[in-house]
Formats: sequence, C-alpha cells, structure tokens
Amino acid sequence: MEEILQQYLAAAAEHSRSVRDVAEKDRVIPILIDWGGFHALGLDGQVYVYLFDDNFYLAGAQGKIEPLQRYRNTVYYLASKKYPELNHLNPVRQDTDRTCPFCDGSGIVDDIPDSIRNNVLCYCGGLGWIPADDVIPGN
Ligand SMILES: [Zn+2]
Repeated sequence: MEEILQQYLAAAAEHSRSVRDVAEKDRVIPILIDWGGFHALGLDGQVYVYLFDDNFYLAGAQGKIEPLQRYRNTVYYLASKKYPELNHLNPVRQDTDRTCPFCDGSGIVDDIPDSIRNNVLCYCGGLGWIPADDVIPGN
C-alpha cells in the first residue's frame, strides 16, 4: 500500500490540493471523493472519513474511522477495483447480507441516463448487496 500512496502523491496535479495534503499528512489513499468530503484507505487497512468544512477546506481536518460497514465495504470494493493489488480487500458477501433493494443486486442504478450512470454510485457502492445490519433510511 505504501507504493500506491506514493503513486497517488506523485500524481498530485490531478487531485484536489487539499485532499492530497491530507493524504500525505495522514498517509491515507483517497478512494471516494464527493462534495461533502472524502473516504480514504489508511496504510493500516482502516477506512477513514474526512469532511470538508463550509469553505471546502480540509486543513486541520482529522480523519475518523468510518463507523458504517456499508461505507467501509464501498471503499474496499472501489479500492480493489482501482488497485488490483488490493484485491484481497474486496469484501465478501456473507449468508446474512441482503441484496441491495436499489439496484436489485446489479450494483448499477437503473433509472438514470446512460451519460451519467458511471458517475452515480448506488447505495450499495456497486457491490449489489448490503450488510445484514445496515439500516436503510426511511425504512
Ligand atoms: Zn445497489
């Protein structure tokens, strides 16, 4: 994972400067970045979440260990897709896990235009299933 972190940092021009700075400071590999913050894989194998402040600023931001298994699974899944050498992190569905009700197990949201489909992540993160104890909002 150290090698992946160094590759990420070397490609800094492609990334948000503040995200890169946090990645270097905390030695984490950003995996999932959106408007609210980002999730990163730590070299210790943990998934961390960082939130942007009101000015989309990260300096001083402290990563917290992501509490939700569904988000941790999403980060491990996306990391293993992006970095094949991390394939051992790809979560394995257990007998008690449930098929995602939003994509019926395909991992892809149906009701959105083809042009943006690859940019929209399903609730399940693309895995097609969610942890048995996941609480779906509104249910
Ligand atoms: Zn889904």
